[in-house]
Amino acid sequence: MADRYAVIGNPIGHTKSPLIHGLFAEATGQEMDYGAIEGQPGQFAGALDAFRQAGGKGINITAPFKLDAYAYASEHSPAARLAGAANALKFEGQRVLAQNFDGIGLLRDIEHNLGVALRGRQVLLLGAGGAVRGALLPFLEAQPARLLLVNRHGAKAQDLLQAVGAAAPPVFEAGGYGELAGQRFDVIVNATSASLRAEPLPLPDEVFSKAVLAYELAYGKGLTPFLAQAGRCGVPQLADGVGMLVEQAAEAFAWWRGVRPETAPVIERLRVPLI
Ligand code: NDP
Repeated sequence: MADRYAVIGNPIGHTKSPLIHGLFAEATGQEMDYGAIEGQPGQFAGALDAFRQAGGKGINITAPFKLDAYAYASEHSPAARLAGAANALKFEGQRVLAQNFDGIGLLRDIEHNLGVALRGRQVLLLGAGGAVRGALLPFLEAQPARLLLVNRHGAKAQDLLQAVGAAAPPVFEAGGYGELAGQRFDVIVNATSASLRAEPLPLPDEVFSKAVLAYELAYGKGLTPFLAQAGRCGVPQLADGVGMLVEQAAEAFAWWRGVRPETAPVIERLRVPLI
C-alpha cells in the first residue's frame, strides 16, 4: 500500500496541495497517496489520531489549525517554535515532529526563483500574523541590512520583536504604518490578509520608489490593491505567493520522502496571470 499523506484545514475545498504533491510524486517516482481532510474546530487531535491509525506518515496543516498542529507535536523545529505554529508534521512511531516551512518557502521563492537576494537590502515586511512569524527567522538569516516589520496593531509587531529576542541582530525593527512616511525599501512583502478581501493598505507611495520587488503572499487574487499600487509606483517586479506555496510544499516533500522535487514546472502549472 502507498504511504499516506494529506493536508488538513477548514475550508479545504480550494486547496492545491493534493495537486502539487501528486505532481511531485509523479516527477520523482515516489509511491504515495495524498488527500485532503476537512478538519472540525475542537476536533483536530482526534482527526490526526485517526489519520495516524490509518497509516498516515505526514500531514500539511493550513488555516485555522497551525497552532493546534504545534500543540499536537512532541518535537519542534526552531522556525516552528518561533512561530508557535506548524504547517507540516511527520509521524515516526510515537514521535510527532513539527516544522514550519512557510518562511523558508517564501525566502526560496524570493531569492532563488525571483533572483532577489535579501542580503544587504532594506526589507519591509507587512503583517504580524502566522505567516510573518514563520518568515522571521529565515528572513533574518538572509542578512538584510534592515528588516522593518509593520503591523496594523503595532504592539503585535513589537511582541514579535521581543519573541525573536537575542536572535535578532540590530537590523530588526517593528512598528506601525504611521512610521512609514519618508521611508524607502528595496523589497516590500505583503504578509497581511488584507488582499483576501481586496482591502488597500495605508502605504505612502514613496515606500515603493526604489523597490526592486513587491511580493504578495496571497495567490490567485490577480492584481491586488498592494500589487496595483506597487505597479503604479514603477516597481519592476511584482509577484504573488504561488511560488511560496509550491516551495513550502517541496520542503515538506523532501522532509518526508528524502528527495527534493523540481518546483519550476509546478509553479508554472499553477500560476495565474496577475492582470
Ligand atoms: P493571520 O490571520 O495570521 O494574520 C493576518 C495579518 O494581516 C495580521 O497581521 C493583521 O493585522 C493583518 N491585516 C488583516 N487585515 C488587514 C488590513 N485591512 N490592513 C492591515 N493589516 C491587516 O494570517 P496569515 O499570516 O496566516 O496569512 C497572511 C497572508 O498570507 C494571507 O493572505 C494568506 O493567504 C497568505 N499566506 C500565503 C501562503 C502561501 O503559501 N503563499 C502561506 C500562508 C499564508 P492585525 O494583527 O493588526 O489584525
